Order: sequence, then structure tokens, then C-alpha cells
Amino acid sequence: MNIPDDEKRELLRLIPQVNELVDAANNTGDFEEIPRPVLLQAVRRVLAAFRELILSNEDAGITARELEMDSLLMTVTKRVEGMMGPSLRRVINATGVVLHTNLGRAPLSPGALDAVTEISRGYCNLEYRLVTGDRYSRQEHLDMLLCWLTGAESALVVNNNAAAVLLVLAALARGREVIVSRGQLVEIGDSFRLPDIMRHSGAVLKEVGTTNRTSLADYGNAIGPETAMLMRVHPSNFRIMGYTEEVPLRDLVGLGRQSHIPVVEDLGSGSLVELDPHGLPGEHTAGVSVAEGADLVTFSADKLLGGPQAGIIVGSDEYVVALRKHPLARALRVDKMVIAALEATLRDYLDPESAWDKVPALRMMAESEQSVRKRARRLERILDKAGHPGLDYAVVRDVSRVGGGTLPLAEIPSYCLSVSHSGLSPSKLEELLRNARPPVVGRLKEDRLLLDLRTVRGDEVSAIGSILAGLP
Ligand SMILES: *Cc1c(COP(=O)(O)O)cnc(C)c1O
Repeated sequence: MNIPDDEKRELLRLIPQVNELVDAANNTGDFEEIPRPVLLQAVRRVLAAFRELILSNEDAGITARELEMDSLLMTVTKRVEGMMGPSLRRVINATGVVLHTNLGRAPLSPGALDAVTEISRGYCNLEYRLVTGDRYSRQEHLDMLLCWLTGAESALVVNNNAAAVLLVLAALARGREVIVSRGQLVEIGDSFRLPDIMRHSGAVLKEVGTTNRTSLADYGNAIGPETAMLMRVHPSNFRIMGYTEEVPLRDLVGLGRQSHIPVVEDLGSGSLVELDPHGLPGEHTAGVSVAEGADLVTFSADKLLGGPQAGIIVGSDEYVVALRKHPLARALRVDKMVIAALEATLRDYLDPESAWDKVPALRMMAESEQSVRKRARRLERILDKAGHPGLDYAVVRDVSRVGGGTLPLAEIPSYCLSVSHSGLSPSKLEELLRNARPPVVGRLKEDRLLLDLRTVRGDEVSAIGSILAGLP
């Protein structure tokens, strides 16, 4: 239904001038702490929003009452609060998805956090060799560790794994062909499509095999004078089952050697430690790809590795040197905070067993279900004490996931608090928690809200308890 024109004119007439509303705000004394430009901006936006709504021809249900000074001032207060608080905020992840891309993937280890604070508070030797006082490459802070941990000759770190793949293709295959199996032309959740990256790098994609089956002969037959690279891509977020065939890295390396063509593996997640002993399905580590002879291996630093966002490239000297010299390497370089966090995270791995304690992503994936259950019970007891009459809750068993396009089939047994509210629909309940302070993100399942305690830290349990107990 449209608002009649005369009514519209009347409503528009009621909207005060910007300076009138600013003066009224100043007179309340409530905005003394607020920087002037922020108040002015808030007033402008509130008035503009009302004007737009009235003119928008949809009956937004705006009444003259809402345009009175006191009511406008309340709207301005809300707007100012939104503008003064940070946009990027801490969130409690109760989804049970350990590497949740939308929630920032891997939380950093204590060592990584300390390093970031220490290094960014003042100056650091980012590109300065302290022993001699001359220039240094920022990459050298990470080189030795990455080579130790993967057995590679050389390493290079860029902004993320998408950037790593882009750089590898641009530097080694621009204007030439890259052979990839059809079954590996993946799209990763957050809009990483291998064929797109390839096009932008200037490399020419040559698909071989079929979606479910590619043989060594398919690669072999596709090799020609224009072939610059054989590429293997980890399928990451999906699995093809049944009648399938994939060429093992070792065999592809054999073919590459024979034809003098480099073999590159985009591992995606790229773990530095064996996962099977901790009950997670076997993925081969970055070190295994290097040992099997891949000339270059790329992987993310914020997936299974559990560090900051970065893309790691390891492999043979010959190719890494070519990557370092490419102009894109400069455009994709990482900053000191990332180097600090990544160096510290890599140091957590120097004793691989202790990495399972220190690196939060690993610890969360490996934590026993009984230990998760204890936190769920603790949350339950907090609610028992609070005695909210509208809340119904129970500790239930469910499964967590790794996330981040990693180990898609892995289901990690977990414990959740299943919550419902007599006066709120499950989706309303979910929305209220999402907008709480701090925000709590859970998952909806069959008319209940599940709060998975696997991804909730011990010191976050009481905050969730208070938020639930404080619901209407
Ligand atoms: C996740 C992933 C990427 C993208 O990595 P980002 O670090 O998110 O840029 C590329 N390739 C594969 C196979 C992946 O799994």
C-alpha cells in the first residue's frame, strides 16, 4: 500500500533540519563524550533514512510520533552507539565448525598473539639484518622454519593460498598450458575458482580426464610443446565416491620428471602434522607432498595449520627463486603482523606433539568428546541456577565439523546444549544470540538451537550462560 501524497508531504514537513536536531541533541547533555563529526554524521543519516523511507512509496508504517524530537533523539542515540563501537568484533563460535571462514578461520595460539603485540607495538627488524646493519628480506624470518617443517629447499609466503596459486601460475605458466584433471577444477566456498584464478594469471587451462576418472595416460597424452606445468589440486570441500580414479602425486611427479615439466600441488589445507593419530581422516601433510617430489606445494596458513591468513609456497629453489623475482610477489607480500603470527605458530610445531596443545584449531579438533561434554554440563548448570522459566535446554550429542573447506566428510563427535524458548521461535532465539554482547553464533537443527561446545573456550561458557539467562 502506498502512502497518499498529501500524507507524505505532511510527514516530510515534520522532519527537522539537521542543525535543529544537533542542537536538541546537545541540549540533552547526553552526547558530550561523542566527537562532533560523529554526532553530525549520525543525525544526517537518521534524517536521510526517514526521508528515504517516506519517499520510497512503500508504507513503512512511519508515524508522526517517530518524527518528534524525543523519539528522533532515541534513534540518534542508537545510531551513535553503532558508529562508536568497532565493526569487527569478537564472536563466540558455538557452531562447532572449527575453521569457520566467516568467523575468521583459525584462532591464534598464545605464542602467535604475544608475537603480534610485541612486534606491532613498536619497530622490528622486518627487513633489517641486525648483525650487519644492512637490508634483509622479510621472507627470511619464515624460510628456515618452513624448510625444517616440510623438508623443502625453499619457501615463500604471500597473502593467502589463492594468491600463492595466482603467483605460481603467473610466474611459471603465463601464456602457456597448465594440465589439470577435470575432477580437480574446484570452487572453494569463499569464491575461489581455480579456472578463474588461472585465467587471471594468463595461464591456459588444459583439462584432462573426466569428473570422476583421470589416468596418468590422460596427462601424458596432453603434454605438448606449450605445456608449462602439471597441476594437482586438493578437492578440499567435496569428495567423489564410487567409480573414481585419481593419479597419485608420486606418479605425476614421475611423468613431470620424464618430460622436464614442473609438478605443482595446491594442497588447500596443508597440515604440518599427521592427523590420523588424533582420529581425523588421513590427509597427507605438506611434508609428504615435498618428499614425493612435487616441485612446488601451496597451502593456507589459516586452515589446518591454525595460523594467521597467509599462503605458503614450498618447494625447490629453482622455482621459488623465479617466484620471488616476479612483480606479483611484491604485490602479494605479507605484513609484519602476519609474519610475527606465522613465525610463532610455526615455532609451536617444532615439537609436533605439543602443537596439539598450543595451536587452538588442532586442540579443538582433537579434544575428546568427554571433555567437550564437561563444558556443556557446566553451561547447563549455570542455566539450572538461573532458573529462567521460558528456557528449555538439554545436553545432547551431535557432530562438529572442521570447516574451511577442509576434511568435508569428517564428523567429530561433540556435545551441544540444545536450547528452545517458550516465547521465541528458534530462529528468533538464534537472532537474539547473534546480536548479544558478545555475539553468540549457534546452529539451528530441527526446531532447536544447538550451541556446540567444541568451539567454545572454557572462559566463554559463563558469558553464554548470562546471555541466555538474560533473555526476555
Ligand atoms: C582453501 C583453498 C584455497 C584458497 O585458499 P585461501 O587461503 O582461502 O586463499 C585454494 N585451493 C584449495 C584447494 C583450497 O582448499
